[in-house]
Amino acid sequence: MIVVMSQDATREQIEAVMRKIEEFGLKTHPIYGVLKTVIGVIGDDKTKVVETMAGYPGVEQIIPILKPYKFASRETHPQDTVIEVAGVRIGGDKVVVMAGPCAVESREQILNTARLVKLAGGSVLRGGAFKPRTSPYSFQGLGEEGLRYLAEARAETGLPVVTELTDPRMIDVFCEYADIIQVGARNMQNFVLLTEIGRSGHPVLLKRGPSSKIEDLLLAAEYIIKEGNRKIILCERGISTFETYTRNTLDLSAVAALKKLSHLPVVVDPSHSVGVASLIPAMSLAAVAAGADGLLVEIHPNPNAALCDGPQSLDFETFSATMSKIRKVARAIGREA
Ligand code: PEP
Ligand code: MN
Repeated sequence: MIVVMSQDATREQIEAVMRKIEEFGLKTHPIYGVLKTVIGVIGDDKTKVVETMAGYPGVEQIIPILKPYKFASRETHPQDTVIEVAGVRIGGDKVVVMAGPCAVESREQILNTARLVKLAGGSVLRGGAFKPRTSPYSFQGLGEEGLRYLAEARAETGLPVVTELTDPRMIDVFCEYADIIQVGARNMQNFVLLTEIGRSGHPVLLKRGPSSKIEDLLLAAEYIIKEGNRKIILCERGISTFETYTRNTLDLSAVAALKKLSHLPVVVDPSHSVGVASLIPAMSLAAVAAGADGLLVEIHPNPNAALCDGPQSLDFETFSATMSKIRKVARAIGREA
């Protein structure tokens, strides 16, 4: 259940409502929005709240929320959430393309890639600096040096940067360098990491775990949002199935389902979904047609020489050609790209 306070509710009224709810043996979770405060009510028996609080000073509405993910649900927030990051609106009319290498490999590589992303019409630069890989002996990323190169690429091109945080102890460093913090698929249920990102208030791109249900993803988002951070971009990046031709199976139905269940923007990562470069242009177009608010695409100046995920990285020419087609599909469904 949520108690929606009216726009002109005072701090005292909000506190009085919370005290009253707590007297009933329930827990409160206030979310202080720009316009309104919404108080989440957590506990088993909420009948007393319904009976007594409807006419309470400052209370606008009491809404029962049936879904286990309360604040990520469209029930709580019927209109789409649009997240603004350094002038880029994610979740609005424009399909936002985020592109870059799997890993930052050198200053030259990331600067050249950033220039191409900008030229081709992309809006956000991606690149991993900390890359814990399946094998501990594979390239693990440049670490903080990689973050500095990303910052340089942002300064030159103006493109905001999305990069993955794996260690909650590094949150402050990431808040400084990253415009959007990525939570990798393997960390989707790292609840300490989610809580820290929630507390930071920083925009976050939350990837679906390969074996996680849609509801699990929304509950992971709830860990972030319950800390007061609703700047969450959900990301479908393929799930594990019996198929082995592709790296994972792109679950495009998740896009439509997430848009129905939640107000949060949804992007698709076709690269990790299929793992085969030649299939990625088609899957990018399909994702846009399915209603994705954006794409996260791996590209590389020389995919054959990439230190990480070369087989699924588009070269610059293919990426530029795909961008033109993405724009056409976006226009066909009444959006831009
Ligand atoms: C990535 O985007 O670089 C990545 C590692 O993806 P995922 O967490 O989806 O495997
Ligand atoms: Mn990758």
